[in-house]
Amino acid sequence: MRVRKFLLLLLLLLLSSGEANSASWVNFPTSWDIGQAFAVSISSTAEYSNPVVTWMNRSITLNVEQGGAGRISYGLLGSDVRNTKPGNYTILFEFVQGGKKYKASGNITLKAREYPFENLRVSPKMVNPPKKELPRIREEQKLVGAALRTMTPLRLWTTPPQPPLSTMTLTSHYGFRRVYNGVPRNGHNGADLRAANGTDVLAPFAGTVVLTGFHYYAGGSLYIDSGNGVITVFFHLSNILVKKGDKISKGQVVAKSGSTGRVTGPHLHYSLVLGGQFVDPIPLLSTSITQMLKLGTQSQVNNL
Ligand SMILES: [Zn+2]
Repeated sequence: MRVRKFLLLLLLLLLSSGEANSASWVNFPTSWDIGQAFAVSISSTAEYSNPVVTWMNRSITLNVEQGGAGRISYGLLGSDVRNTKPGNYTILFEFVQGGKKYKASGNITLKAREYPFENLRVSPKMVNPPKKELPRIREEQKLVGAALRTMTPLRLWTTPPQPPLSTMTLTSHYGFRRVYNGVPRNGHNGADLRAANGTDVLAPFAGTVVLTGFHYYAGGSLYIDSGNGVITVFFHLSNILVKKGDKISKGQVVAKSGSTGRVTGPHLHYSLVLGGQFVDPIPLLSTSITQMLKLGTQSQVNNL
């Protein structure tokens, strides 16, 4: 093992001693379903800095880590079921190596996925809120928008995530097209999990709390940033045990579930936001970044 490590190190030294010998790659899927998370990476035999991936008009700062053929940067991306049309979308990778800026772009075909309708009965004021509540709702939307734009380069997320409840029972899937009291509204931007009032909610990833509050529709809300645009969101909480700025560890009890906001009963709403896009959080629970990258295509980056 030691000899292998030494040989690998020697190889890396040889490769990084001359710039002409360094090779870099990007990895991304060429086709994917709308609403589903996918993995991307930048990797190189030599040191590089400032890795950024631009997807859906958002620039996502990545981290440089040891791994792959020398150095690697991991990203998790996706598209929001509520406003993404099927078609071809450009993905752009950038990084700096040996004083030069490298760029690589590609195309990802996003395919439609059929998500069923769901009829729900809620209090009428949760479908058409009273006028006096509108300024409050607008103010909350501003706070949420800012929280979801948080971009920190350090990767605190590790896969697979910790499931947020010790018993995971899905009661409403991500992507369900929701009809409230007969009125069609936005699709479901997360997963609803069965949880009696007061159930422990665990942090899926390590991170930093970027927003907490009791919001009109979402009720008790918690937003956790885990780096590279990866943000976990919980709604309808009865009690939030952390505050803005708190550093939290993976699996930490961060809140108690409840039935606050627009709900039909007690449950935990769990959303995963990747670079501003709400994606289905459930499939990620049973996979890893390494497995996900195997579903992508790797291509070498040329100096442009
Ligand atoms: Zn929900």
